Amino acid sequence: MNVRVRFPPSPTGFCHVGTARMAILNYLFAKKHGGTIIFRSEDTDKVRSKREYEEDIIEQLKWLGLSWDEFYRTTELVESHKEALARLIAEDKAYVSKEESKKEPGVRVEVVRLRNPGKKITFTDLIRGDITFDTAELGDFTIARAIDDPLYHLAVVVDDGEMGITHVIRGEDHISNTPRQILIQEALGYPRPEYAHYPLHLGTDKSKLSKRTGDVAVKSYRERGFLPEALLNYIAILGWTPPSAREVLSLREMIEEFEIGDLHKSGAVFDIEKLRWFNRQYLLKEPESSFAHEAITIMKSELSARSISWDEAAGERIMPLVRERISVWQDLRTLIGEGEFDFFFAAPAPEPSTIPGKGNDAGTARKHLQHVQKIFDEIPSAEWNETRLKDSVWDYATNEGRAAVLWPLRYALTGKERSPDPFLVGAAIGKDAVLKRIEAALSLLTSKA
Ligand code: GLU
Repeated sequence: MNVRVRFPPSPTGFCHVGTARMAILNYLFAKKHGGTIIFRSEDTDKVRSKREYEEDIIEQLKWLGLSWDEFYRTTELVESHKEALARLIAEDKAYVSKEESKKEPGVRVEVVRLRNPGKKITFTDLIRGDITFDTAELGDFTIARAIDDPLYHLAVVVDDGEMGITHVIRGEDHISNTPRQILIQEALGYPRPEYAHYPLHLGTDKSKLSKRTGDVAVKSYRERGFLPEALLNYIAILGWTPPSAREVLSLREMIEEFEIGDLHKSGAVFDIEKLRWFNRQYLLKEPESSFAHEAITIMKSELSARSISWDEAAGERIMPLVRERISVWQDLRTLIGEGEFDFFFAAPAPEPSTIPGKGNDAGTARKHLQHVQKIFDEIPSAEWNETRLKDSVWDYATNEGRAAVLWPLRYALTGKERSPDPFLVGAAIGKDAVLKRIEAALSLLTSKA
């Protein structure tokens, strides 16, 4: 079978996670079966549809790595909708009815209604199995506001029929539309495609995600520095467990594993923490050089906003720490913006009374700092690294009490009550800076004493 699927977003809002999910699932299905993908911009809502939204949807889907073979806009296909309407009326399968307008009471308008045979319709859903509807209760429903103004149901059926769509894969919010669409399809003599309605995903608080909430806009994740591969991967496995049960999958691996029947029958919860976890997995896969390039660009700009000058050597040395601390690029901006990494680039301003640490007096702190200063001073610059620094004072610290020795040292170097350990910091800022900062702390202790 020559598989043909469509993703038909309505361009009435920015590309949101739900739009992306519809596109991804159709894409995976089509690629799995060597099929054709049709992007159809369903701009039937003339008031809310905007070209700007359509452009955003295209841009974000491409950014995620998706592509399609054909592109259409529903309003540009109106001639075929009109032909279909005319044919239905000529064959007496639909009729024009003059009725009072719902919007403007008292005004009479012409609408086109389908003559509903009122039968029971059963269709097989690839995810949910057989679904039966009694269409009698729908009555003769409206399919056009006027002979040249077809409504969504008619347009969808004609477009799907003319485009030879074989599989309609969409959210379960469209299940109740399916019987109407099948009635129109039968009246027009189009073959019935296969249907697959997947459950919609929910917000973390189990609420329905609204497409107009900025936070679920794909571009808002992009702006926060999420990686397209991570977002694509996470959205794809929302409500789908691949047979291998692997979670981190490339697009190619997802295509290999994809079976539409494996989609869950109940709604998945979109969990931002899980998405961050995925993003971290992809960040860790980045080659060191490209990771460093991006990290340095961000650090430079955030530091300059804080009027701190950039230090190439310190920047390179803290790269492993940056890798360890962030899940998303935005995290790095936040860390720098909040001053978390300032001490790597500029001398801190320690609070004299905090230098000794809990339960210690200034005299003890001075003694320990002086001792460590002497040991550090003797380490040749060529051997200045984290392990060497740690080894050089570890026995002393163990004998004298680790907190009593290491707190003043760490605080002298960072000026922060919480920070990475003094060896990591010391190795990153280099021997000169370490000795200067210890000296500065000692003089603060002395001037206070
Ligand atoms: N345009 C519809 C939407 O955005 C999709 C219609 C369909 O899949 O049949 O929800």
